[in-house]
Amino acid sequence: MMRAKKPESPPLYQAARTAGESERRARDAVVIHPAQNGQPVKFETLDDVRRQLALMDLIDLDWLLEEIQATPTRPVTINRPNGMTQGDRLKKFCCEYAPVPGHPAPEEVSQQQIDDLLGKAKAYIQRFIIDYEPIEIPIAGRQRIDWHPSKKTWLSPDNPPKTRFVDANTIAPLPAAFCIRLAELLIRYGHLIRACTNCRRLFIKKKRQEYCSKTCSQTVRNAKARSAPDWQERQHSYYEERKKQKALQAAGAVQNK
Ligand SMILES: [Zn+2]
Repeated sequence: MMRAKKPESPPLYQAARTAGESERRARDAVVIHPAQNGQPVKFETLDDVRRQLALMDLIDLDWLLEEIQATPTRPVTINRPNGMTQGDRLKKFCCEYAPVPGHPAPEEVSQQQIDDLLGKAKAYIQRFIIDYEPIEIPIAGRQRIDWHPSKKTWLSPDNPPKTRFVDANTIAPLPAAFCIRLAELLIRYGHLIRACTNCRRLFIKKKRQEYCSKTCSQTVRNAKARSAPDWQERQHSYYEERKKQKALQAAGAVQNK
């Protein structure tokens, strides 16, 4: 009896194997980047895309928090790369809902408009996050987006949202696009925004983070150590211990001569 020849695996699976990726990733891919310039074929699954979107969301929210809390001594630098202007960064923030190339010409943003929008964002975040009050964001005077502080958590970016808040094809004038994007981010990640217990600065809580920065966490740790009842005593014993060590070292040095 002749044995049936094992069927050849489809070229896509072969490509996946060459690229060191699983057949499963090849099967689930929503985007396939063809092999180019010596680089193997690359596969992107829906999960990859979602993770990427969640990451972009957090970067945008991080930027917004920096921007609305910027001071002359703490300017926004980290999240506005390549010398990007404030207006350009704001347009990037809204780009999913605002006019983009191919749609009506992108609007120019005036400084006045930027200041208004950032001021609005600051007020909304203050009410929603700090005062824990529901907010209403009127959009274009006709539509409204209402919600209450979300109890549900997205464990981002490993468990990113499965649905988008509004249809990604929504094209709105810039102020409305800004509000839609802001609402979307607050719904998804509002629960991650915390006020630093040391300096009251707003930040996105990552893991078990309690303070906005390393500086604040160190300041608090130092203060705690200093206020401990035995601080003076411990400082003194450290001093004595160091003195003893030095004396021993000196004695050792003499002996070794
Ligand atoms: Zn702080």
